[in-house]
Amino acid sequence: MTRRLDGKQLVIASHNAGKVREIGELLEPYGIEGVAASALGLPEPEETGATFLANAELKAHAAAEAGLPALADDSGLAVAALDGAPGIYSARWAGPDRDFSRAMAKVHDRLGDRPREAAFVAALALAWPDGHVECFEGRVEGRLIWPPRGDRGFGYDPIFVPDGHDETFGEMAPEAKARITHRARAFEKLAAACFP
Ligand code: IMP
Repeated sequence: MTRRLDGKQLVIASHNAGKVREIGELLEPYGIEGVAASALGLPEPEETGATFLANAELKAHAAAEAGLPALADDSGLAVAALDGAPGIYSARWAGPDRDFSRAMAKVHDRLGDRPREAAFVAALALAWPDGHVECFEGRVEGRLIWPPRGDRGFGYDPIFVPDGHDETFGEMAPEAKARITHRARAFEKLAAACFP
């Protein structure tokens, strides 16, 4: 049976300040306080999983060792014609200096004239200190364009046009993007299943 959260606090299993803020904002309407893993001095585990879900799970389990339920996410861009690449390696394709112009060009070059369908995928895992875990996945389908357009988003946003829209995620107003993202969809499922 799906387990629900019975307290009002959980650890956000991320050392990325932007992600901690974003997840904290998603938790707020439910009256749940998110405590950053770094504030508890928790180490950052290596992402050794083969899937978004596996990586979210291992991060959530590691942070739940602090004694509170812990929420982790993992996300990326999956391009159908590239067998799901860059996938769990989405951040790594940008290199050590996090150059996403380079990562986007790499996707474009590898695709050549193959079909441009792609999806952003987000996995969320909520783990408890006793080892129980609940996992959810959200996706937003779309297509890749070239050259990149817009500078409002991050990562691969400037080359991704979600289905039913003409603008890239990089051109869209942030509130409009936030409503339809993979993260928002995964979070809706998590909240419906696990939040009081
Ligand atoms: P992680 O989830 O922090 O491991 O990193 C996911 C990587 O996927 C990010 O560095 C981005 O490159 C990419 N990514 C995930 N979500 C988005 C998004 O909404 N827009 C653009 N890129 C994204």
